[in-house]
Amino acid sequence: MRLAVLMLAAAWVAPQAAADCVPVDWMALDLPGPGNRVEIALETAYPGLDLDRGAGTVTLPSGDRLEYAPARETGLDPALRLDDATIGDQFFYTYPLDFTLRARQRPFHDPGRLRNEAFFRALYFRTEAEARASLATVTYDGQGRAVRFRVTQQHCVHAQLEAALNQIEALGPDMAVYFQNSGGSFNWRRIAGTDRLSTHSFGIAVDLNTELGGYWRWAGVAEGEAAVYDNRIPEEIVRAFERFGFIWGGKWHHFDGMHFEYRPEMIVHARLAGRG
Ligand SMILES: [Zn+2]
Repeated sequence: MRLAVLMLAAAWVAPQAAADCVPVDWMALDLPGPGNRVEIALETAYPGLDLDRGAGTVTLPSGDRLEYAPARETGLDPALRLDDATIGDQFFYTYPLDFTLRARQRPFHDPGRLRNEAFFRALYFRTEAEARASLATVTYDGQGRAVRFRVTQQHCVHAQLEAALNQIEALGPDMAVYFQNSGGSFNWRRIAGTDRLSTHSFGIAVDLNTELGGYWRWAGVAEGEAAVYDNRIPEEIVRAFERFGFIWGGKWHHFDGMHFEYRPEMIVHARLAGRG
């Protein structure tokens, strides 16, 4: 009974007010440890989240409690893992913080593309109406026309995006071309060709120039084959996004070079893996 009351109380905690958001530099932040990487990554990235590995549960800042199991064994069919990822599977592939793009030659090496839908719905929204009510507009002001992105204020995503775009604006007018013909931002929809909800649905993803980004599905290869990917997104843009918690789809085997998505847990996890 007591637990039920506590959980109800937790569910009524208001989302962090937009004004309280101070951008976090996820590449510079002091990390705790040593300890379990997944636990540190999730608890650092989402204050209020509690991963209890002993009990096999993860309690979200909303008060929702989900089952937690570590990543399943390496022998599992990668297509199955992608289709139906557990929370632990989300960390099966470590996101590469270097810029070699070598890791993406390995079939299904898609760090961050494995997502447990129940986890994201509990972390963000269950319905389109809830997602819409949380949106804010963040603007990239290059030379000439400003480009607007609609993202959520939940977990301060809008403030993190603003910080990344400020850093990119400071790189100068040469960056403006990557923001032309933007593929968009908030959009409650499924991923093309799948039943999985896109992270654009939660307002945590933005797409840059669709003509310069490159997308595996448009490259005419079958799932599991490495398509030729001629990257045209500059490293400085990728680094600015990563610093403020956004992973880049250009590092995925199933590359989506225009796509950036707020996944600070993947950045923290990668930093922990790098420290050995
Ligand atoms: Zn996208």
